[in-house]
Amino acid sequence: LTLHNLPDFPAIERIWQVLPSARLVGGAVRDLLKGVSASDFDFGTPVAPQDVMEMLKAAGIRAIPTGLAHGTVTAVIDGRGFEVTTLRRDERTDGRHAEVAWTSDWREDASRRDFTINAMSCDSDGRVHDYFGGFEDLAAGHVRFVGDARTRIREDALRILRFFRFQARFGSGEPDEETLAAIAGCVNLIELLSVERIWSELRRLLTGPNVVAILRLMDRTNVLTTCLPELKDHAEKAVRRVEALIGLGAPSDELLRLAALLAGSGSGDETVRKCLARLRLSRAESDAVLAMLGEPVPHPARILTEEDGLRLLAELPREIWLSRTWLAEAREKAEGDTPHSEAPWQTLRQMLSDLPMPVFPLAGRDLLAMGLPPGPKIGDLLAVVHTWWKGNGCRADKEAALAYLRRVIVS
Ligand code: ATP
Ligand code: MG
Repeated sequence: LTLHNLPDFPAIERIWQVLPSARLVGGAVRDLLKGVSASDFDFGTPVAPQDVMEMLKAAGIRAIPTGLAHGTVTAVIDGRGFEVTTLRRDERTDGRHAEVAWTSDWREDASRRDFTINAMSCDSDGRVHDYFGGFEDLAAGHVRFVGDARTRIREDALRILRFFRFQARFGSGEPDEETLAAIAGCVNLIELLSVERIWSELRRLLTGPNVVAILRLMDRTNVLTTCLPELKDHAEKAVRRVEALIGLGAPSDELLRLAALLAGSGSGDETVRKCLARLRLSRAESDAVLAMLGEPVPHPARILTEEDGLRLLAELPREIWLSRTWLAEAREKAEGDTPHSEAPWQTLRQMLSDLPMPVFPLAGRDLLAMGLPPGPKIGDLLAVVHTWWKGNGCRADKEAALAYLRRVIVS
């Protein structure tokens, strides 16, 4: 590999000055060989973690003990972090936790890695060390476990989801049946994983390449419905909605795609709520998904006046309405309810995008300034005026709103 053209090369070189026996490992080697830009540069080293700390510090490089128990030290160079991890060997595994010991054997470290394409390393001369045929597999688009698939999945079931993520990125054609069978035979192990790990893989899959093909493979191996039991019995429909969403050119947003999966008639509000809670989405994310799945947007054949548009925007943020139009259109397209015609939805989106956000002209302090006493009555009055304002197409300004308020108070 030629590395000196990389923007990060000066930093990489500094690490090699301090730790000449270190090698680039994992994803960076794979990505560079594939000719795509690598996101992180991780190093492996036979040097023990404490010594790595000392050596980096002695060279004036900030070293953070980010995961000493796992052998990982982060070197900070020009504000960028580079993980340096001591080579490891599994002493014993119980399916979820591995007891590791340090080693100086590169092959042993590579054999713990998940896929052959992720198990290559590159030394400071640019030589690639490939113990398991990762180079050929990468060229052939073959995502293959290092060693026996079943054994490797039993050690860590997250590798099932990682398989699909890497298949999406680097796989070409159908994966081999044997691997799929191993995965299908081990799906129940997914339930042992923490939901955080599941969701963090799923969200990357949902916005990654080849989502639709990958979701279908995940469905075929029962992985999809193990991760999202809400989709049982209608997973194919759910995937078709995502397919439609992508086909329509909707923004690539993991929450919108999750909403499309969950938008099935079978999953009521309560089911969705439970699903989001189980996945431990943040409050904001979970609210966003629920809002996207809220009452459907009026069919654009029925609303096209600006007043209608403003009324919608007065109720909920623009983004939510846009998401709802994408979802409604995707459902229409996927379920073939109505003959599909793109124009009205696109027109509605355009209108919702172009309209200024209506701003309700009154606030509590305006009522207080009129001499009304503070208390819950203020909020009630504001709500009354708000309803009137929306009913009038959100056009009334402050003066008109105050005039209406006075009429309300008098009556
Ligand atoms: P990405 O570019 O998506 O980050 P990556 O290959 O760097 O891809 P990471 O999750 O960052 O993936 O992991 C770094 C490396 O650590 C992998 O390339 C692989 O060698 C190893 N690895 C990570 N997770 C596992 C796992 N669960 N089992 C075995 N090896 C793993
Ligand atoms: Mg990485």
